[in-house]
Amino acid sequence: MTPPAVVVGGSVAGLATASALAQRGVPVRVLERSAPPPDGPPVEVAASWRRPTVPQGGHSHILTSLGVRVLRRSAPRVLEEAMEQGAALVDLTLAAPRTGAEGGRGVEDPDLVALAIRRTLLELLLRRATQAVAHVTLEHRTSVRGLLRDASGTRAAGVVTEGGTQVPARFVIDATGRRAASASWLRRAELAPGNDLVGPTELRGFTRFYRLRTPRGTWPGELNRGNAAGGIWDHYAAVVHPADNGTFALTLAVPTGDRALNSLRHPGAFTTVARLSPHVAEWVDERVAYPVTNVRAITVPPNIRRATARSAGERLAGLYPVGDAACVTDPLYGRGLSLALAHAFRLAELLDAYPSVGEEQSARAVELAERVYGPWFEQAVHDSAARARRWRAHVEGTAPPVEPAAAPSGRPSMAEAAHAAATDPAVWHGLTCLLMGLRTPADVLDAPAFRERVRAAGPALAGRTSAPSRAALVGALAGVAGV
Ligand SMILES: Cc1cc2nc3c(=O)[nH]c(=O)nc-3n(C[C@H](O)[C@H](O)[C@H](O)COP(=O)(O)OP(=O)(O)OC[C@H]3O[C@@H](n4cnc5c(N)ncnc54)[C@H](O)[C@@H]3O)c2cc1C
Repeated sequence: MTPPAVVVGGSVAGLATASALAQRGVPVRVLERSAPPPDGPPVEVAASWRRPTVPQGGHSHILTSLGVRVLRRSAPRVLEEAMEQGAALVDLTLAAPRTGAEGGRGVEDPDLVALAIRRTLLELLLRRATQAVAHVTLEHRTSVRGLLRDASGTRAAGVVTEGGTQVPARFVIDATGRRAASASWLRRAELAPGNDLVGPTELRGFTRFYRLRTPRGTWPGELNRGNAAGGIWDHYAAVVHPADNGTFALTLAVPTGDRALNSLRHPGAFTTVARLSPHVAEWVDERVAYPVTNVRAITVPPNIRRATARSAGERLAGLYPVGDAACVTDPLYGRGLSLALAHAFRLAELLDAYPSVGEEQSARAVELAERVYGPWFEQAVHDSAARARRWRAHVEGTAPPVEPAAAPSGRPSMAEAAHAAATDPAVWHGLTCLLMGLRTPADVLDAPAFRERVRAAGPALAGRTSAPSRAALVGALAGVAGV
């Protein structure tokens, strides 16, 4: 009898892949190293569920329009359940520039929505939906440490758990997150997985969740970023992401090298910076909201494209990474969950269409990973580097780097596109479709009409920001007791 597929890692990517495979009739065993979540009503469990093996789990997460589109098409029940449990679809077009003397709506696009939900609640609902699919078993407290190979040595034939149990598999999905365990499994099997592509993010993030005192569905301030309030400023970022049931997450991000601002884990320091930050201050007014968690800190991983998801190095047929195990992109752009979901459902489709484990299946899986992640990885590496250079210059007190007005290919920079998008609804639409993952950077930024409109808007005005300077923030923090 053919053994089941084995999915290692039972978080968003693993659960989505398992459920997609099982819906196509493939029996699946999910092996997850952490303990299961507690039982109980999802909204209550989401508030108390800790994920020690997913350090970013307690941080701010938004599901972009791409993620919503994937759920609408491939897991509509999860989206419906999310809405029933208090999540909200945020209409991004409300932030588009208005047109005409009456200020009419500049853009209408039903796809431009984001899902406001705590990550724990989304994961919990996905988990429950996956458990409800026939032929899926979820096994917790089971950590995988290695691979089984077939007699030819070219094919993954199963996995070995930390306890030494051998689990045969028709194929193995690595959904182990950013540490991508399959590279170490390959090395243990004396194969050379090749080199990963890596681009620095140089970012440290601080998040705190709050609950609004105002009636459900009314935000205390404008969502100037469409799905969020705040900004990525010239030396730090301060962004509010609305979530489910009147909760929201506030994230402050600073360069890893900025020792003076690394005290933000201290609640007094965090609140001080939040209250000085444009579009954010109104959300943390005590009369409007109160904190429901401590401030959580995380050093953000770099952008990574794993060799195991490219045609680099030695591979085994029947071993496929998905989600962060395939590619990590700078979380400041909020794309990880959406890309993981998109990859998961398309990978299941591919494995259904090419069920025979071997070279063709492997080659097609690599092509798929390239299509899903390639453009976003490149864009994230480019945008993270530009942002990190700008931020570093502020910390070091050197002149901010002058970004090239346009890339040699003639592609406008994100700053130029954002400048034009502030007044031109068509540019805003293209740029927001890109930011929300609905259209690739090349598709938007290389379109002649888009370029022409960006050019017509003139150069982006550098150096104008409504956010406090770094000196002002450092000065304000000096006055906070205990920091
Ligand atoms: C600070 C921060 C903020 C972010 N914000 C956003 C956002 O706003 N929007 C967005 O879309 N994305 C965001 N992301 C990215 C997002 O969190 C990831 O893309 C997403 O969690 C990837 O899901 P995954 O299932 O691939 O991996 P993970 O969620 O990391 O899960 C991996 C799972 O594998 C299990 N595991 C690991 N090793 C083993 C093993 N050997 N055996 C068995 N099980 C194992 C772990 O226990 C875990 O359950 C953010 C990331 C960070 C760091």
